[in-house]
Amino acid sequence: MNIVERAKKVMPGGVSSPVRALTAVNGEPLFTSHATGPFLIDISGKRYIDLCMSFGPLILGHAHPDIVKAIQSAAARGTSYGTSTEFEVDLAEKIVKNTGVDWVRFVNSGTEALMSAIRLARGITHRDIIIKFEGCYHGHADSLLVKAGSGLSTFGISSSNGVPEGVSRDTIVLQLGDYDQLIRTFEQYGDKIAAVLIEGIPANNGLLIQDSKFMHEIQNNCNKYGAIFILDEVITGFRIGMGGAAEFYNLQPDIITYGKVIGGGLPVGAYGGKSEYMQYIAPLGNVYQAGTLSGNPLAMAAGNKMLDIIHDNDIYGKLEYLAKYFENGLTSEFNDNNIPLSYIRIGSIGWIVLENNQLPQTPKDIPKIAVDRFNTFHPLALQHGIYLPPSAYEVMFLSTAHTPEILDKVITTLASFGDYIE
Ligand SMILES: *Cc1c(COP(=O)(O)O)cnc(C)c1O
Repeated sequence: MNIVERAKKVMPGGVSSPVRALTAVNGEPLFTSHATGPFLIDISGKRYIDLCMSFGPLILGHAHPDIVKAIQSAAARGTSYGTSTEFEVDLAEKIVKNTGVDWVRFVNSGTEALMSAIRLARGITHRDIIIKFEGCYHGHADSLLVKAGSGLSTFGISSSNGVPEGVSRDTIVLQLGDYDQLIRTFEQYGDKIAAVLIEGIPANNGLLIQDSKFMHEIQNNCNKYGAIFILDEVITGFRIGMGGAAEFYNLQPDIITYGKVIGGGLPVGAYGGKSEYMQYIAPLGNVYQAGTLSGNPLAMAAGNKMLDIIHDNDIYGKLEYLAKYFENGLTSEFNDNNIPLSYIRIGSIGWIVLENNQLPQTPKDIPKIAVDRFNTFHPLALQHGIYLPPSAYEVMFLSTAHTPEILDKVITTLASFGDYIE
């Protein structure tokens, strides 16, 4: 029995998270043995250039020696205490200093951060309704596995079986960039809306770059109607700059959620905000939220080391250089080989759309032909030792470990696939 068969015998789809099954791109789960810098090495010893990078956390590449050392040294001192540690204070201080939130609460995943942030917003406002946008992903909490309803109703319907109707009914799903719909929804339900959530830069359904004006429209409506503005920076936090999307768009969100980069590759989430809001959380307030392994010393050690390295080196300048190099190379090679491409990018987050002249701002704008082409590209790339994100709707993440030579290899390899696509 090979590993895929063994895995499928004991784990649903053989995976611990659905997109890893590679179903969308006609593949099978990849079983990694180890990873280093920009490379994944599978259990047969085949090496891949990784353009997914664990979906975002690994901004310095796989197994960065200093982060590994920090985790090893923390592990040798005990893996969990059930008490506070200095590591947590250090990491919280770094987040506070760079983002403008007053207080931070650590949890174990982005999902937990969003779930807790919503409970907090509801606890503060004594309101139930939350607003999210079609095409934004905020983890898998029940109230967020909701898509836009049909017809005139803006109230959501669940996008997963197992989500109670009563839960999805409290989530309104709006279209990104639709000012009218946003304003009308506030006019109609303003005194019942607890929170509006949006990704710092929507990057879970392709990279749907929003206008700054729209982000401010959300913030202004929240302020006007007393709703909590939750900016989900699980991807963008410390990825597009120290101050994330809040800084990029000059926003002052009430609550910000974090994950991915701040964990240095270990399971971490966090939410933070103004103290006037965060004081509602237990033990200070009556919004309950807890975690046996929250603030885990290994995870905090990794996160601290990650933010120290980011802070002490010009990593965003370096990433911008590499990302621009990749964008230019890919665009010109694809053009020379008559492969349709729009490369959408913010810093080291990039998205391949295999059709010309596209700049999608909503899921509806994504051309289906580009998705079909990507699904053809993916298995070819895999054969040639390149691990693209496992869906046309997943973005790519570059790291400081992706050298120009490695990026050249990716560019020339991908540009050789022209004959295989329509
Ligand atoms: C990844 C992600 C989440 C969920 O984080 P998990 O750690 O996977 O639970 C939430 N929001 C955004 C924007 C994300 O990209």
